[in-house]
Amino acid sequence: MGLKKFIINLAPTPLVKLFASPYVAGDSIQAAVETAHTFWKERHVCSTIDLLGEEIEVDEEVQYTVGVYERLIDSLGAQEFATLSLKPTQLGSHRGTQHCQKIIEGIVAKAEQHDIKITLDMEDHMLTDLTLDIFRALIKEHPTFGTVLQSRLFRTDEDIKSISGLNARIRICIGIYNEPKEIALTRKPDMKTKLLEQLEVLFKEGHYPEIASHDKEIIRESINIAERLNIKKDQYEVQMLMGVPMRAFQDELIREGILVRLYVPFAEKWKYASAYCKRRLDANPAMAAYILKNLIYKTAGKR
Ligand SMILES: Cc1cc2nc3c(=O)[nH]c(=O)nc-3n(C[C@H](O)[C@H](O)[C@H](O)COP(=O)(O)OP(=O)(O)OC[C@H]3O[C@@H](n4cnc5c(N)ncnc54)[C@H](O)[C@@H]3O)c2cc1C
Repeated sequence: MGLKKFIINLAPTPLVKLFASPYVAGDSIQAAVETAHTFWKERHVCSTIDLLGEEIEVDEEVQYTVGVYERLIDSLGAQEFATLSLKPTQLGSHRGTQHCQKIIEGIVAKAEQHDIKITLDMEDHMLTDLTLDIFRALIKEHPTFGTVLQSRLFRTDEDIKSISGLNARIRICIGIYNEPKEIALTRKPDMKTKLLEQLEVLFKEGHYPEIASHDKEIIRESINIAERLNIKKDQYEVQMLMGVPMRAFQDELIREGILVRLYVPFAEKWKYASAYCKRRLDANPAMAAYILKNLIYKTAGKR
């Protein structure tokens, strides 16, 4: 574990909550929907709303998660600014692919009634097969169903071949999970070079790529690739995480006619938000120093 991760893990829950607040829309469906609506109304920024939660292995909690997504869909209704994102390990993957697929299909079918698109997030490499199996099975009946590929994994070139002809919404990102060097690239610049190569293949294969990155150079180069291949601006989008301070660049892209979508997470129960928040803090370069300063200040103050 790196020093930054170690410090972040040391931070008490209220401190994590405080520092992570820019990355989370709130603790209710209403807060998430209002956040997404405000992004759209004020800036024409789209959202993908996500109920935080992962590694859920209690059936009642899975049912609770399904219930929240159902209420979220009813609350959003038909609109043009928000999709939903969800994770296999919050929706029954602990009981196997078929079980998880059935649960996800229920949510996808309900969302479809309101023209709401769903993306199945990609978790660590233990879930790649399950996620892609579910994706390939469900897209047949639900053509707007999308998923995610991680450029750091060696297998991704083959995975792109396995979705050939599906004309799918594919979020392409470097991937947030630290994977073993036997199966994945370990240097960020290599992951980013690979992302651009794979993006080009996705374009050529007729998919709708969703470029998920905060790296301006990567985004600019992605747009160059689209232009070189004569891909229209409505055939791809750029995605970023809510809370990462990129507003000016997002507005610049929107002025250029590119769709920008933010990942808008929320949680009704804090225990489900903790892992996501810690990953966000770990990705923020200044965060370990802030937390350390705060911990020292608090400790000194208590004496
Ligand atoms: C919409 C969206 C959905 C995603 N879905 C998935 C998924 O399903 N599975 C998965 O494995 N990964 C997912 N990711 C994460 C993604 O794979 C990357 O890990 C993450 O975006 C960081 O990579 P980057 O390309 O932004 O490059 P980086 O080099 O990591 O970041 C570029 C710049 O953004 C800054 N930055 C990044 N994060 C923060 C932060 N939290 N606070 C402040 N500054 C920051 C960096 O400091 C750097 O300057 C998703 C990302 C986005 C944007």
